[in-house]
Amino acid sequence: MTSQNVQSEPIQYVEKCNSANATNQKSKVQIVWINVILISLLHIAALRGLYLLLTSETMWITRFFVLVFGMPSAALGVTAGAHRLWSHKSYKAKLPLKILLLIMNTSAMQNSVIVWARDHRMHHTYSETDADPHNSRRGFFFSHMGWLLVRKHPELKAKGQTIDMSDLWADPLLRFQYKYYMFLSFILGVAVPTYIPTLWGEKLEVAFFVSAILKYVYTLHGTWLVNSAAHMWGMKPYDKHINPVENLTVSFITSGEGFHNYHHTFPWDYKTAELGNYSLNWTKLFIDIMAVIGLAYDLKTASPEIIEKRIKRTGDGSHKIHGHEEIPYE
Ligand SMILES: [Zn+2]
Ligand SMILES: [Zn+2]
Repeated sequence: MTSQNVQSEPIQYVEKCNSANATNQKSKVQIVWINVILISLLHIAALRGLYLLLTSETMWITRFFVLVFGMPSAALGVTAGAHRLWSHKSYKAKLPLKILLLIMNTSAMQNSVIVWARDHRMHHTYSETDADPHNSRRGFFFSHMGWLLVRKHPELKAKGQTIDMSDLWADPLLRFQYKYYMFLSFILGVAVPTYIPTLWGEKLEVAFFVSAILKYVYTLHGTWLVNSAAHMWGMKPYDKHINPVENLTVSFITSGEGFHNYHHTFPWDYKTAELGNYSLNWTKLFIDIMAVIGLAYDLKTASPEIIEKRIKRTGDGSHKIHGHEEIPYE
């Protein structure tokens, strides 16, 4: 998954570079100090929020609001919205659901859907290369958050111009979010989450640091873990030739986005997982509920036969049913 991009770059990678130039710049890492400072301050503020959350400073109703409503809704805006609906087109959504997802997505402040999906499509198309925005071959820190602290690699800028985003640009809702993103994300990501807890008497400081900042940093790290941990630590039951892995811890933290070996093998599957256990895949549960009430439709998923064939052809043998360690029935 891609994540917030705090650099104020235009939507297209306009800086052209030829291959010689790219080679020259390959070893250079240019730190964007303003991003380093902003992200550092954000984390200091989040620590203040964590302290307030864990001590008696925070009202129980505020804790409930943040943990059951604030964090999950922002997360779903990314997982069910920017990721599964808009980046991968793994299902279709009717207008009310699109609007709901866009509101939740904007509250997550991980950049507009168009920018997020552009980075994510680059990630899938050029995985583990210099054109992958968070290339995991550059290490845990780079793929987790370091990629937001340095200038983009020339290969990423060059190839980024070729990625097709015309389907998302054609959507007036997404263009609206893109155009007014700074204003909308401040309102939905900071102002509203800070204001709501004050309605039941929460202190303004607590409301700000817990409901706005801590929620933001938690969901950021959730997204970032998919790019880092879920590209490093886990099994590869579907395709052993790629870096993404199945990581249950990341799945738990990210509402179901850690089944990453499956997801990179079948990126068009709305479940982003084979088994889709609801306890680790809240996003699937959300989409399924939306489908039941008629707001989501055309859910795409891989058939068991296709999955089994793929496991036997390219898996690492760790699959519970079709892996090499399978104990045959006598
Ligand atoms: Zn994806
Ligand atoms: Zn990935």
